[in-house]
Amino acid sequence: MTPGFCKFAFVMLAIGWYLIRYKYARRSNRTPVLRSARGPRETALLAISLTGLGVIPLFYVATGIPHFSAYAPWPVQGWLGLVFAAVSLLMFQLTHRALGRNWSVSLDVREDHRLVTDGVYRRVRHPMYSAFWLWAVAQALLLPNWVAGFSGIIGFGILFFGRVAREERLMLETFGEPYREYMSRTYRVIPMIF
Ligand code: SAH
Repeated sequence: MTPGFCKFAFVMLAIGWYLIRYKYARRSNRTPVLRSARGPRETALLAISLTGLGVIPLFYVATGIPHFSAYAPWPVQGWLGLVFAAVSLLMFQLTHRALGRNWSVSLDVREDHRLVTDGVYRRVRHPMYSAFWLWAVAQALLLPNWVAGFSGIIGFGILFFGRVAREERLMLETFGEPYREYMSRTYRVIPMIF
């Protein structure tokens, strides 16, 4: 796969993600928020993640900067990246569809919030974060640049590890025992492993 096609595939991942999100965000944002764990810390985490998964790699795709950290990719790297990107988009679609109006970009509890525990939520509590991890890996494989490729894993990693325990605490405070029971039989992002 040529470097140009790999860059094109990354841009398609970003556009595909945006289109899926736009469709579902319009619906959920019309549902009032009852409680929220938002704040400056959440805003900072979101900005870091957006920079790592979007701003840095898209700037690299447009300009080739930073040049110093470019390397020669390994032959199947681009193809593997394409597979990760496709699975990531599929997971985004499935998780948005399953969460419906319960989705928020940050940590919110909406009116008539329903605890989703089926479909892609059956074995894993954070499959949308799994989709972002897949994105971050796709980015590292598609962009042969140490900085622009790995900024997604670092940026999203900071959001994930800074947020996930707080999100689970919010879910426990909201749903109590059913969420505790759900936690006891599920993993965070990878079925059977993590
Ligand atoms: N962490 C989940 C959801 C990300 S969207 C995932 O990765 O798939 C973040 C919002 O989803 C938060 O506002 C939280 O209130 C809500 N949420 C998280 N888990 C949920 C669940 N199992 N059912 C319903 N809403 C959930």
